[in-house]
Amino acid sequence: MTRHVPSEVGGGAPRPHPPEDWADDLAASVSGPQVVNDSKTPSGTVHVGSLRGPVILDVIARALRARGLETTYLYGVDDMDPMDAQALLTPDAVDRYMGAPLAHIPDQVEDGHASYARHHAKVFIDLFDGLGIRPDRYYWMSDIYPTGEMDGFIRTALDKAAAVRDIYRRVANVQHPDAWLPVSVVCPNCGKIGTTFATDWDGETVDVECRLDLVTWAKGCGFHGRIAPFGGRAKLPWNLEWAAQWSLFGVTIEPCGKDLATAGGSRDRSDAIAREIFEHEPPLNVPYEFLNIGGKKMSTSKGTGPAAHAIVDVIPSEQVRLLFLRPRPNHAIEFDPEGTDQIPRLFDEFDRLADATAGKEVRGDLPPGYASIFRYSLLDADADVAAEATAYRPAFGHLALLVQIPNVDIRARMEAEKGSELTAREEAILEERVRAARAWLAAYAPERAVVSVRHELPVEAIADLDDDQRRYLGRLAETDAPPTSGEGWQDRIFSVAGEQGLPNGSAFAALYAAFLGRANGPRAGWLLASLDRGFVLDRLRAAAGQVPA
Ligand SMILES: [Zn+2]
Ligand SMILES: [Zn+2]
Repeated sequence: MTRHVPSEVGGGAPRPHPPEDWADDLAASVSGPQVVNDSKTPSGTVHVGSLRGPVILDVIARALRARGLETTYLYGVDDMDPMDAQALLTPDAVDRYMGAPLAHIPDQVEDGHASYARHHAKVFIDLFDGLGIRPDRYYWMSDIYPTGEMDGFIRTALDKAAAVRDIYRRVANVQHPDAWLPVSVVCPNCGKIGTTFATDWDGETVDVECRLDLVTWAKGCGFHGRIAPFGGRAKLPWNLEWAAQWSLFGVTIEPCGKDLATAGGSRDRSDAIAREIFEHEPPLNVPYEFLNIGGKKMSTSKGTGPAAHAIVDVIPSEQVRLLFLRPRPNHAIEFDPEGTDQIPRLFDEFDRLADATAGKEVRGDLPPGYASIFRYSLLDADADVAAEATAYRPAFGHLALLVQIPNVDIRARMEAEKGSELTAREEAILEERVRAARAWLAAYAPERAVVSVRHELPVEAIADLDDDQRRYLGRLAETDAPPTSGEGWQDRIFSVAGEQGLPNGSAFAALYAAFLGRANGPRAGWLLASLDRGFVLDRLRAAAGQVPA
């Protein structure tokens, strides 16, 4: 993708043009009505990394609409694909349903869904609305085939079977036998689709064999007969089905995961099939990288990594959106929430982008198009961005401490820090963050984030400090106006250490010893800000040996 540079009118010096984010660039590079599409095979539990596609699509749709382009966002479920993962079936269902279309397998969980496919697709799709992802239309291939809408594409593929086989050979180096036809028929006897082999297209019917040993993972029934492969009695193989969807729905933009976007991979095959078989220009691709958990690609089939719905239970929607939006699509996301500060840092980055969007000074470099990244992270596409950017948001690290300290009126503390009453919106943000902080502490937080403030001076830990460290604690207390915020305390901790020439590590160690009786802890500024001010000053003086413990 190249940066869009608006044409200058009337000559003169070019106006300074703020760098835009990738979605704004993309929207600026297209014209006319747009159809954005994504689809997913509901083969099992969907993990959090799979949300990257729907979030990227939603952002593209928002960016297109922001430029005034008529935009339709489609989300499809490829539920006629065959079942090939035995581990996900109950033992009595394996023989009967391995190789059957996902849409024709009963829900293995028995919680009211019409099929196995509906169950897994719905558990995933049901997250969308809460994340502000609102496709204009969902389609299910098991509904589309019986309408006959795919029949024309099936007929074309069969008429041009030799050309299809040539594309597989040329683009992907896949050699199908000369008799192979690009169609998968549902066996009229046993209902399986992964076990059938079709040959001999005569213009109306194909010869179908349901083979016992066509694939290793499913067993056919031996049926042999002629079938007209239309009206839901057959489906196109995946690469052809994908290309047919583009023609059927007029898709103009379709991002895809990089596993499909490799040379000779699914996307290349479908692009060639679209052009040469269905004579339709394929949509613009936006390849995107994976979300890696702990350095590994999260895999549905291997069952690794947290399920999408589990992550969404802990991280609020706008931070989930930011997790996927902050890196450009072609950058992998390393997400390792277990025992790390990654989730708190996600909140901090959200707040930093909010501040920058509100025109405040922020620390560190900002990404190109940071205001767009903030805007696209918001749940509501039509939100008042300026109001959202200036809303008061308590620092997550501070809340994660406050919720652990007994008898703290968190709301009163936050109003004191803000300097005025919270608005209704700010109260909702506070409630959401308190919930998230508790969930993070319960599910992911590292040991050092869990605090137990010592009621009495931890004499043994203080005894291990040197004179400089004790003097430092005393100096921290020497102020007429102790800080009220975590930021304020953090600044004071650094500046007093700097004045005294004490290394930061020694300064923090002294603070953790004085309050927690141990050598490490959460961000010390937030810890001090969480505690009663009188208690903090008394403890600092006592630890310094200035007053009796
Ligand atoms: Zn179910
Ligand atoms: Zn069969």
